[in-house]
Amino acid sequence: MKLARIRHQGRPRAVVVEDGTYALLPEAFTDLSAVVAGGEDALTEVGRALRTAERVPADDSVLLAPLSRFNRDILCTGWNYLDHFYEGVGLREGQEVELPKRPTFFTKGPDTVIGPHAPIAFDPDVSAKWDYEAEVVIVIGQDGRSIPEERAWEHVFGFCVANDVSQRDLQRAHGGQWLKGKSIDRTMPLGPWITTVDEVEDPYDLRITCDLNGERMQDASTAQMAFGFERLIAELSWGMTLRAGDVLLTGTPSGIGNAREPAVFLKDGDELVTRVSGLGELRNRVAATVLT
Ligand code: MG
Repeated sequence: MKLARIRHQGRPRAVVVEDGTYALLPEAFTDLSAVVAGGEDALTEVGRALRTAERVPADDSVLLAPLSRFNRDILCTGWNYLDHFYEGVGLREGQEVELPKRPTFFTKGPDTVIGPHAPIAFDPDVSAKWDYEAEVVIVIGQDGRSIPEERAWEHVFGFCVANDVSQRDLQRAHGGQWLKGKSIDRTMPLGPWITTVDEVEDPYDLRITCDLNGERMQDASTAQMAFGFERLIAELSWGMTLRAGDVLLTGTPSGIGNAREPAVFLKDGDELVTRVSGLGELRNRVAATVLT
């Protein structure tokens, strides 16, 4: 099942994405967090509601981020594709490290989240080095602490797509941290919907691409992940409870702008298209925006 949120008659509504239509779910489902946390029972209820649901024609432009309320920061993985780790060697400005033996984690503020077709709030006064990072996202569906790898999938509700838009100068300017260069308001498209885990035949056969103004900048398979989904869940949950509704970005492959020669950074008017096979597409304009 593909679950999305749309703006319908001025209000957010939860929908099931079907071929060419969106099936509107009752208002009680409007925040998908309850469906995500509700597991099989909630999905059964959604299935029941579908029998009589009103259908509207599918229209990308009304899609909202599938989740709007978060337990905490967006959870993220760094350097999870070896080619991406190696492309950055020598470019980390005093933050050089050995190839990690365990996954690298960090977080982004939830105010970064925007819809799958919303403008990326670009402000050149905030940063001079805006970069893109196409990523597969896991949505946690069941609370768990110290989850063993063999039980990891029991805790996953589904998948979606994100672009971990980053400000490289802010990543470096505030000591050995990434939070600041990853948390600029309204910069991370998430969506276009949540694809439930049962619909993904092989999570290690997903193709991730990122196009900037029509040019392919990133192109990889989840088969190239250094640490697989199960390992990420096991390591991150070690002694630290993951909760239903938590969102975990699983890392970006090579091809980022900062590692190019010459470097490529996002600018006003650019179009960023982030796709994962079977999970959908984000299409976002980089748009000069001054937030107050
Ligand atoms: Mg990233």
